[in-house]
Amino acid sequence: MKIFCIGRNYAAHALELQNEVPDSPIIFMKPSTAILHKDRDFYIPDFSNNIHYEGEIVLKIGKNGKAIDPKFASKYISQITVGIDFTARDLQDELKKKGHPWEIAKAFDGAAVIGEWSEASDFDFKNIGFQLHKNGECVQDGNTSLLLFPFEQLISHISKYFTLQTGDLIYTGTPAGVAKVTAGDYLEGFLEGRRVMECNVK
Ligand code: ZN
Repeated sequence: MKIFCIGRNYAAHALELQNEVPDSPIIFMKPSTAILHKDRDFYIPDFSNNIHYEGEIVLKIGKNGKAIDPKFASKYISQITVGIDFTARDLQDELKKKGHPWEIAKAFDGAAVIGEWSEASDFDFKNIGFQLHKNGECVQDGNTSLLLFPFEQLISHISKYFTLQTGDLIYTGTPAGVAKVTAGDYLEGFLEGRRVMECNVK
């Protein structure tokens, strides 16, 4: 099982981190050991002093495919949820400055939180609202209508380079509002108004 993540897929988020808006999707990956299993707490790792939450829509791939035409790409999405792409922003900033790969800042154990899955056929991919709440307050409010690269384009682009397989996940990018977590924080993810994810930070 592979986990793909998309960087800078919402213009407002790219700008809040002073990054340029990309002209093609930015792809990175996390290993399956990054998944934080349901009902487990997230422990801030000792190698970072600046872990950020990034609330994102996560797609689950429902069948194998390679070089998928965007016209047919939506058929490859079986389920949808909200997750968190936890990021060690201090490590990532250092690595970016040096031009090095940023895996250790993004792919560490527990860095991929996954909510409860919903059937993809229940959604209009071009208009899915989602939120991340921290300690009861809405800190990220996203809608897929604002994606720079919609789901179909992501699937087509990723599958040019990597065979997509049943069970693979795609974190589709975070909207504006990312910030640091501290021990004691309580994060909740909402998909079309329904709470699908919760995570205690320790
Ligand atoms: Zn992200």
